[in-house]
Amino acid sequence: MKLILPQSCFLCGDTSTLPICAPCLADLPYHDTACLSCGILEEESICYQCQKEPPPYTHTQAVFSYLYPIDKMIHAAKFSQNLVILNLLGKLMAQHLRFEQRPDVLIPVPLHPQRLRQRGYNQSNELAKCITKYTGIPIDYQVCQRIKNTVSQRTLSAKQRQINLQDAFIVQQHTKKWQHIVLIDDVMRTGANVKELALVFKKTGVQRVDVWCCARR
Ligand SMILES: [Zn+2]
Ligand SMILES: [Zn+2]
Repeated sequence: MKLILPQSCFLCGDTSTLPICAPCLADLPYHDTACLSCGILEEESICYQCQKEPPPYTHTQAVFSYLYPIDKMIHAAKFSQNLVILNLLGKLMAQHLRFEQRPDVLIPVPLHPQRLRQRGYNQSNELAKCITKYTGIPIDYQVCQRIKNTVSQRTLSAKQRQINLQDAFIVQQHTKKWQHIVLIDDVMRTGANVKELALVFKKTGVQRVDVWCCARR
């Protein structure tokens, strides 16, 4: 007989058979009314910035706001190998994402091979796998690569980030004739990464790029 040991909630420490207990789960900061296009918190359906300069992606959906405790959970999922929390985040994403038009494929934002070796996994791949399990939308891990290992972009301005990311990604000529793809990312901050990746995909003939991320700044 397998003995099921009681565990404790990752957030509050209370006894819980789930990685996060039900009260903590109910308190997570779900992302509210946001700009349809870039996903930033906004009362208008399209924010001023996106009206002025529409981004290369059409819709952004963020399931959570990047606030406590989501920041702590993502940090654990990314840097402390906490795959239980990573899978939970993926499951919550899958349960909350909505789409009218079914996209052809999910593309996790790739990590540079060097960073992938250090970390051992790409958190965006794991999130995408959970979404595939719920939606049946296929994933392609192979079609794009990150060839430029940019240093931490945190201290850079939005413009500097974009310049820094030029030629950071390559997309192989794909034969699948995708019209509509979705980029999967863990955290969307300025959106510089997904913007660059969306531009590269559009050059290969993809008509529509959406972004689904776990958390939005
Ligand atoms: Zn708890
Ligand atoms: Zn916007």
